[in-house]
This record gives sequence, C-alpha cells and structure tokens, in this order.
Amino acid sequence: MQVEAAFTDLGGGPLELRMSRSSPGRYSLHEFAKNVYDVQVIGADGRELAVTRPDPYGWTVVQPGPAVTVRYKVYGDRIDGTYLAVDPSHAHINMPAAIMWARGLDDRPAALTFVPPANAHWQVATQLHPGANAFEFTAPNLQYLIDSPAEFGPVSIRQFEVNGRTFRVAVHHTGTAAELDGFVKDVEKIVRQEGAIFGDYPSYEPGTYTFLADYLPYASGDGMEHRNSTVITSSGSIRASRDNLLDTVAHEFFHNWNVERIRPRSLEPFDLERVNMSGELWLAEGFTEYYGPLALSRSGLADLTMTTGTLGQLIATVVNNPGRTVRSAEDMSRMAPFTDGGRTNDRTNWPDTYISYYPFGGAIAVALDLSLRGRSGGRVTLDDFMRAMWQTHGKPGGTREGYVDHPYTIDDAEKRLAEVSDAQFAHDFFVRYIHGREMPDFSRLLQPAGFSLVRVNPGRAWWGDLRIEPRDGALISSSPLANTPAYQAGLDNDDVVRRLDGTRVSSSEDIAAVLRRHKPGDTIAVEFADRTGAVSNVRVTLVEDPQIAMVPAESTGTSLTPAQRAFRRAWLAQ
Ligand SMILES: [Zn+2]
Repeated sequence: MQVEAAFTDLGGGPLELRMSRSSPGRYSLHEFAKNVYDVQVIGADGRELAVTRPDPYGWTVVQPGPAVTVRYKVYGDRIDGTYLAVDPSHAHINMPAAIMWARGLDDRPAALTFVPPANAHWQVATQLHPGANAFEFTAPNLQYLIDSPAEFGPVSIRQFEVNGRTFRVAVHHTGTAAELDGFVKDVEKIVRQEGAIFGDYPSYEPGTYTFLADYLPYASGDGMEHRNSTVITSSGSIRASRDNLLDTVAHEFFHNWNVERIRPRSLEPFDLERVNMSGELWLAEGFTEYYGPLALSRSGLADLTMTTGTLGQLIATVVNNPGRTVRSAEDMSRMAPFTDGGRTNDRTNWPDTYISYYPFGGAIAVALDLSLRGRSGGRVTLDDFMRAMWQTHGKPGGTREGYVDHPYTIDDAEKRLAEVSDAQFAHDFFVRYIHGREMPDFSRLLQPAGFSLVRVNPGRAWWGDLRIEPRDGALISSSPLANTPAYQAGLDNDDVVRRLDGTRVSSSEDIAAVLRRHKPGDTIAVEFADRTGAVSNVRVTLVEDPQIAMVPAESTGTSLTPAQRAFRRAWLAQ
C-alpha cells in the first residue's frame, strides 16, 4: 500500500516520525515498522529532506521547515485485528500497522482519503467520522485515528436501530445476502441483550457503532475491540460457522463498555511506543469472556448444552492448571505482553505457571456472579457490578474524544463491588481470588443453579497428558505438568520411555493400552532414558483422570428443586 502523509504548521525543531510498536487491544509488541520501506520525506519546497534513524521505529526529519510530506510503502498480508492485509480483494487496515505519525502532534485532527485501485468497486467501512465524500474521513486526534480500523473493499452493509442508536454490520464475505440478513438479526439480539445488562448504550462519537467483519477463507480468526467498532475475522462462513461467529460478536460488543469505556487506568491513554501492561485484564478480558456466552444464552442463541460447555470450560481450565498456585489473576494479566501474540524461541514452563487471563477471569466472573446471587437471594448479580463500573467510570466519558476521563484502578473495582455488596465481602473476594491464589469452591457455588462438576473419565487411570513422539521408545516432547504422577515420578522433557509396566512402548497408543489395564491407585514400573542417555527405573502411582466438566444436575439423575430452576432461569434464562 502506498501511503502519503502531510504534516503542516510545524513550529521548527526536528519532526519525529514514528511507526507504532503496539496496537490498542493487543498487549505485546508488534513492531509495525518492519514492513515499512521506500520512505521519502519531501519539504515545502518540493525537495527531498534528510532523515536520521534514531531507532528501528523512527525517522527523524532534522530540519523539516514549515511542512513535510512523507511517502512510504507498507506491506501487509494478514487479515485479523492487528495487522494490515492488502490484496486484490480488499485493503483491511489496522491503523497502527499502516500509519506513520509524528511525536507531539497527538491532539491534532487528521483527514484521510482512501484511494481505491483502478476499476475496483470498493467502499470504506470504519468508525472514522465521515467527510465530504465516500472516501474522505476525519479523526479528532491521534488516539482516535489509531483506534479506527478500516475495511476498504466490496463490503455489504446492514443497519438497525436500538434505543435511538444506529448499529451497522459491514461484512466482506463469500456468502449470500440472505445469509447475511439472518446473521444480522442474531447480531441485533446480542446488541439488545448486552444493552439490557448496562441499561443504556454509549454515545457513539461518529453517530454509529460498526461491526467490521471479514469472513473469508483466507482470513485468520480474530476479534478486536475499538471504541465505536470492532474487527471480527474468520476463515469460517456465516453458513458453516454461525455459532462461532456469534460468540465473537457477543464478546467484542461487550467491550464497547468493558475496556473501551470502563477502562483500566493502566491502558489509558494507550502508549503506541511501548508495551502496555495491565493487571486488570482478568476483568477487562476475563469478564467479557464470561458475558459473551451469557448474552448468547439469555438471548436464546445458545442452548443449555452449549452454555454449560462454555462456562464449564472456563472453570475446568482454572481448576486443573497448577499455574494458579504460583501466579494470581493480577499476575496472569501482567503476562499478556509475553503471551498475547508474543513469541518465544526458548522453552518456557508456562503450561505449569500460566493460565490465560481470559478463562481465568471468566472463571472468576462465574464465581463472583454466583456468589452475589447466592448471598442476596438473587437480588444482586454481577450485572449490578458491571452497571456500577459503567456509571462511575465509563458513562461520564472523556473531555477529549477517544479518551476516558475516569479510568479505574483495581482498588476502584473493589469499591464498586463493595457498593453493590458490602465492604467486607468485596475486600475478602479481592484478597483471596484477585490478589491472592485461592480458588473459589465452584461445586458449592454451582449447586444452587442445579449444576455439578463431574469427572469426564471416571475411573480411568492417568499419569498426565504427556505429548509423545514415536522414537526408538516413546519420546516425551514437552514437559509433563508438575502436578502429574509422571512428573512426580521423575519423568521430564526429552525423556524416552522404553518400558511401562514391563511392556515395550514406542507411541502414545502403546502407553494408552498399558494404562487401560490399570485403575487409579495402581503403581507401575517405568523404564526410561533421559536426554543424556542415562537409564532409570522408577515407579509411578496412577490417579483418576482429573479432567472435569460442568453438567446440569438433571443429567446425573438428580431432579431440580423449584429453587434451582428459578435460580438457573434468572441467571441464564434457560
Ligand atoms: Zn476481548
């Protein structure tokens, strides 16, 4: 993509042109400068100006004069919420991946003109403010500009109104108009359901909220929230992947309150030049991860089986992962710069020490909602907490567009919880489950709603979910988790298991066959060679496969009491 950016009214002094290193809503570094080349800076007199490279992300014009125009090319070929994708079918633009900006000019408005390729019948869908014609747009400042992705291509646009707000669904896809019409009806149900949780919708600055969706076989799966829009991408189609696509819609739309306006202070304003660390992602992402499936359930777009499966997965992830004993929910949130799209070349022990703040925060939301409902006889719910957060931190808005004037700290969140419950309960909950490493008693909390946690494989002997590659023997290709019998018996990464219970083994099937002959509590012999070749003989005591699932109590043969029925209906509308 060819980009040209003009900077005028420069007051003297060097002009520091920058490519962003991070993108709002992503928490690791992405180094968008890596795809920028053929950079030319032209002065007011039409002559090319000298630039220096102070660092890999910057081009400094030492003597810019009153105005400069910078021209560059930028490459992009990934359709998702973070990057740029330009191909004959469209230009899918995440602004940080495409736009060079200048330090110190953050408060200046920007005007954008999109120029389509010759003969392309493209239009622009974006949360940018509309301008004089269909290809011209404006942004009030840099924060807003960078937060405004654009889909520039053959998009189909649908529109609906709820409570005086206009919602647009702009989709670039390969399906039919009728499929899109049906899909948009479901999107509207989600918009109504989530609006009911907060009581009202934000005032969308350009006058509309826009869903920007690319459902294309060559797209990567993603969802990314913005103030007045969201980018949703998938290789699935409306016809084949409707439930998945709606799940992402429900998650991303909830963000137009939670994180975009109910905003952690740690992310406000978003710093484009460094990684943005937040200890509150268990709430910003995790609670959103809980409310997405909840909204689907309450609006009738997910049945009891689907909802139970999704919520159960959040709980199971946390219950069975030893990571929760070494990092709190707050600590997990602070890992995002390494895990949210970040890559490592070296081995990490994250399977033992890290749980994503999405399911972790989602499980905390389940526990908090059920606790509030339980202790108040259903009069107070997590919806009340979210509304309190919205009223105090989100709804007052910002004096500058694109900014939030009352972002919250973790202590603010505890105060809002105290307002809807009491100070002792709120403090205790935060100390134990947010700052601390305790795990809520999910079985006890789920019981009043008529759900149980059960073993997925009752009675099955288990020594750990080991990744095995067939060799001359069975190679353990990634470290067994520290809380598994295999690890406790001394097995580790790169060990080659030769004999199990006296039987020669060389594949995961061989190992499974041996384990099937045993029951939990049995102790069996293991012969293995470690990475140095040294051979050991140890004994491992098998346990019952710990994998759990959440199930409706009626599926285990117990019938629901009227109180359980009412609790469940009030919670899930099921
Ligand atoms: Zn999210």
